[in-house]
Amino acid sequence: MKIAVLSRSENIYSTKRLIEAGQERGHEMRVVHTRHCYMSINSEKPGIHYDGESLLGFDAIIPRISPTNTFYGTAVVRQFEMMGVFSVNESVAISRSRDKLRSLQLLARKGIGMPLTGFGNRPDAAQDLIELVGGPPLVIKLLEGTQGVGVVLAETHQAAESVIDAFRGLKAFFLVQEYIKEAGGADIRCFVIGDKVVASMMRQGQEGDFRSNLHRGGSAQIIKITPEERATAVKAAKIMGLNVAGVDVLRSKRGPLIMEVNSSPGLEGIEKATGKDVAGMIIEFIEKQAKPGKTKTKGKG
Ligand code: ADP
Repeated sequence: MKIAVLSRSENIYSTKRLIEAGQERGHEMRVVHTRHCYMSINSEKPGIHYDGESLLGFDAIIPRISPTNTFYGTAVVRQFEMMGVFSVNESVAISRSRDKLRSLQLLARKGIGMPLTGFGNRPDAAQDLIELVGGPPLVIKLLEGTQGVGVVLAETHQAAESVIDAFRGLKAFFLVQEYIKEAGGADIRCFVIGDKVVASMMRQGQEGDFRSNLHRGGSAQIIKITPEERATAVKAAKIMGLNVAGVDVLRSKRGPLIMEVNSSPGLEGIEKATGKDVAGMIIEFIEKQAKPGKTKTKGKG
């Protein structure tokens, strides 16, 4: 098969591994930089041009769209979909997953457990929001944040109000969330492909940090997840419409709580922690699923 990895660089671990895994399995692999693509949008013959060349003949694409490139990246994915190319994750699902608030609303609607979450827009609602999630300690998150940036633990009422005021002063949207103390600064990343959790790891924050992001110096270790955690992660990915997803789970007294469903989950942390060939499993999924025109949404949305 001819498979494109949509990425911003061939030097990223995940991109390298996907190319390698595809080649090992006999496929023609190519990195396509979304920012270099330009598109001809018409109903007769939609096309994608790439540094003067017409991108044709791909059976599948693996979108690795960075959070800073969601708008243009998903437009390129949509264009491939319009051309009948199978995308591991569809453009609509990627856009959906990038909106933290929308994702939580969708998951809540389907009964997925999550930390109590408040969101509002009025300057005088701070007090109410704080009460809504059960008072301090609580977590305040920038809606646009990634990799733990803009995620703050406020231990007192006063701290919570100051952070809310600061975010508001920056005209930034944010969520207020119940703090799951018993998670102990750790979360579980479940890597979902299709209807299975193929690998999972526990990430533990640095001493004194409640955030477990590996980019913030957290460490990862292999972990055995419970059947309930497994089922919740698979269900969450399905609700978001993602075939490949990194589902972040907090272990709480009331069971697994979903924090986030990531549409371009990194491979480095999970492959190194588990020793599993996750890239190979993604290629295997494509081999089973990719058929021309199989994209459900046909680039809609
Ligand atoms: P990002 O998307 O920027 O990584 P997250 O929402 O995943 O932000 O939060 C970063 C980290 O902070 C999580 O991995 C988790 O360890 C911790 N965390 C986030 N929300 C909570 C919460 N409500 N209770 C306890 N810990 C949390």
